[in-house]
Amino acid sequence: MPPTNARSHALFTRAQALLPGGVNSPVRAFKSVGGEPFFVQRAEGPYLYDVDGNRYIDYVGSWGPMIVGHNHPQVLEAVIATARDGLSFGTPNPLEVTMAETITRLVPSCEMVRMVNSGTEATLSAIRLARGATGRSRIVKFEGCYHGHGDSFLVKAGSGALTFGVPTSPGVPKALADLTLTLPYNDFDAATALFDTCGSDIAALIIEPVVGNANCLPPREGYLQHLRALCTHHGALLIFDEVMTGFRVALGGAQARYGVTPDLTTFGKIIGGGMPVGAYGGRAELMRQIAPAGPIYQAGTLSGNPVAMAAGLAMLELVQAPGFYDALEAKTNALCDGLEAAARDAGVAFTTQRVGGMFGLFFSAEKVDTYAQALACDISAFNRFFHAMLQRGVYLAPSAFEAGFMSSAHDDAVIAATIEAARGAFAAC
Ligand code: PMP
Repeated sequence: MPPTNARSHALFTRAQALLPGGVNSPVRAFKSVGGEPFFVQRAEGPYLYDVDGNRYIDYVGSWGPMIVGHNHPQVLEAVIATARDGLSFGTPNPLEVTMAETITRLVPSCEMVRMVNSGTEATLSAIRLARGATGRSRIVKFEGCYHGHGDSFLVKAGSGALTFGVPTSPGVPKALADLTLTLPYNDFDAATALFDTCGSDIAALIIEPVVGNANCLPPREGYLQHLRALCTHHGALLIFDEVMTGFRVALGGAQARYGVTPDLTTFGKIIGGGMPVGAYGGRAELMRQIAPAGPIYQAGTLSGNPVAMAAGLAMLELVQAPGFYDALEAKTNALCDGLEAAARDAGVAFTTQRVGGMFGLFFSAEKVDTYAQALACDISAFNRFFHAMLQRGVYLAPSAFEAGFMSSAHDDAVIAATIEAARGAFAAC
């Protein structure tokens, strides 16, 4: 039975009068794929249940955090037990120390960390630190990469900014945007040329080491190493934005998977277990320049919130189970192989990319690993496929420019059901 949506529709009507676009974050509004979003009542394992009683197999996972599936009992228990002791103290709490110990142990390039409340805060803070520590002003980012909605990053950005064709947002002062230089991802020569021209002005280069905000684009062999060498040579800091890839593409993130050590790393999503959290970390000598240890100011009333720390710690405990990432990757491969086979059988030009627990779906006959290629895919075919899958009870990211996320709760039967749905969807669109 195709989903009915009377309750979602009524809620969206009310929401649109009160919330810009009816949502609190743009990509939720289905603007890119068309139609109206559904409102979720509850979620369990691999499933979302909407207010009209429809069940969806979920490959968005709250945009990444839900790597062990929704409402995992251990995470839930940790949250409830911690909340009983109080929701926020505004003083140091023990769980902050455990969290810092956990992150620095699992991601050794982070000798020290600072907890914040979102990925946006983490990246904003990391570039302030980079600018303060180097005494330089310019930053380099990549076309199609999204690092949150900080002013400096809304220049040729990915995710919602890309989906909506607003590469530079009104409200970003030109003087600030001028300090952001952009490069094409996976282009070795363009990076070399930029650093040759103005390397001594560059405070930091920030990158999603696997781009997840322009679909899913893995780095070409040696590309991250190339960027590392350029930054080292020119005295710029290398920042890996691992908000999406952290604890997702490997336990140690993309830096472990590709063997490249950044100066600073930003985190979000999984380290909060579904609660609002971000963090940034790096070499101790850099991190000690953050207030109150040093002069570079950054603060947060709710940062290190005990309930958020408890949720994140429970999640990080679960992903450390032996074989967790091998199993996750096998699931991602099974899904992507199955979708490619279904597309082939239906005669649809379609390909995938996968890295650990994240993947990209491209309506293209060729493998895609650049932003220009991602833009050139058949976006309207994706949009039709998205709706055909939704009709069949599968929720993919509602944009052709977002990665998909696998969870350990997606078992063989769930993946088989997804591929079966895709066979119908490819035939229908
Ligand atoms: N960096 C990356 C790589 C992201 O994917 C995101 C969000 N999707 C952010 C930063 C911003 O995080 P938040 O939405 O928590 O502010």
